[in-house]
Amino acid sequence: MSEECDHAVHRADSARLSLRGDCESCFGLCCVVAAFSASTDFAIDKDAGKACPHLQSDFRCAIHTHLREQGFPGCAAYDCLGAGQKISQLTFGGEDWRRAPGRAPQMFELFLVMRQLHELLWYLAEALTLQPARQLRGALGLAFEETERLAENSPESLGELDVATHRREVSALLLRVSELVRAKSRHRKDCTGLTSAVPTSATVSFSPHPS
Ligand code: SF4
Repeated sequence: MSEECDHAVHRADSARLSLRGDCESCFGLCCVVAAFSASTDFAIDKDAGKACPHLQSDFRCAIHTHLREQGFPGCAAYDCLGAGQKISQLTFGGEDWRRAPGRAPQMFELFLVMRQLHELLWYLAEALTLQPARQLRGALGLAFEETERLAENSPESLGELDVATHRREVSALLLRVSELVRAKSRHRKDCTGLTSAVPTSATVSFSPHPS
């Protein structure tokens, strides 16, 4: 592995630690931005942009320790992948939507943009660790750095970002990773003579979309 690729892998590895929600550093953004309907995942209906009735004034969830028992397994399963704390602490410098209601719509809109960028970072970090895709590590490292750079932009620049186009470009690269991983898996099966014995669903896959 070249020194540059090595650096990209290490950088993505350490960045991965921050690609998970840290509710203590967030102003409850997902509890306001998301809309949900009463179902097995959520006990109530809630419109997008409206604070959940369980969100307290200190931005903590009043039922955090018993979400499932209270009918909110959807909340327990959700992870913003670090987008919430990034918007709260970096993009808006610790300003929250209750103290700055005039900026709330922008914060909510950019949380959704940041969530997409962090999801791409998560997939790119994962792809950088995959041996069958090591020939793409240079391109993956560059895509990771570019996505990180975009995520650190000002609110104005983030608002102007064409996140759909960036997502398409990164997804094309991740699809190439997926093909390499699948090819390696097929090769292994051919070598062990297991191809016909192993069902297609057992093929190793790497999806650029959330599960
Ligand atoms: S139940 Fe708790 S975690 Fe779920 S949206 Fe409401 S405040 Fe947030």
